[in-house]
Amino acid sequence: MNLVLMGLPGAGKGTQAEKIVEKYGIPHISTGDMFRAAMKDETELGLKAKSFMDKGELVPDEVTIGIVRERLSKDDCEKGFLLDGFPRTVPQAEALESILSDLVKKLDYVINVQVDQEILMERLTGRRICKSCGATYHLVFNPPANSETCDRCGGELYQRADDNEATVKNRLDVNIKQSQPLLDFYESKGYLKNINGQQDISKVFSDLDELLSTLK
Ligand SMILES: [Zn+2]
Repeated sequence: MNLVLMGLPGAGKGTQAEKIVEKYGIPHISTGDMFRAAMKDETELGLKAKSFMDKGELVPDEVTIGIVRERLSKDDCEKGFLLDGFPRTVPQAEALESILSDLVKKLDYVINVQVDQEILMERLTGRRICKSCGATYHLVFNPPANSETCDRCGGELYQRADDNEATVKNRLDVNIKQSQPLLDFYESKGYLKNINGQQDISKVFSDLDELLSTLK
């Protein structure tokens, strides 16, 4: 079960990743975790990555791809893996194809958790925090009785700057622009499977589960 998981911020990708890992026992390989592990183990590539990150520079593709290659060669990937956050670009996707072919593996599915932009905006801008006690609410998922005051202490609720419409819209636009060529690439390879992420978390997972059961 060799999978890549994709989805825009707010699509619920993380939650579904946890559920896949729990049910199928394959390792969840996120870029961040991979980098941290390589740096902790002080592998040659890990140290190289660290030298760029310490300077506040982007880690070059060849280093990232090398770290992915090392990670996918480990024994725990024998039954499969769930890649999350890699690849981000078509050249990285092409590199992944070549890594997998070297390891005599191939991708089964690229799962894209799909949610309309409008709904993502609602999910990502809905957080409210109490100025007095720090309690957090969400206008959709955990709404306060009154949208402007805290249920617990009556304090004023505010929205963090990171959560405001313009910032969130910009973040989504950047992500959409970045992921579209990758989705097109995987579509053309026949790996892409879209999952409707606008349903209950459990229904999203049962759709995913149905798809994955075809691999057993
Ligand atoms: Zn409060």
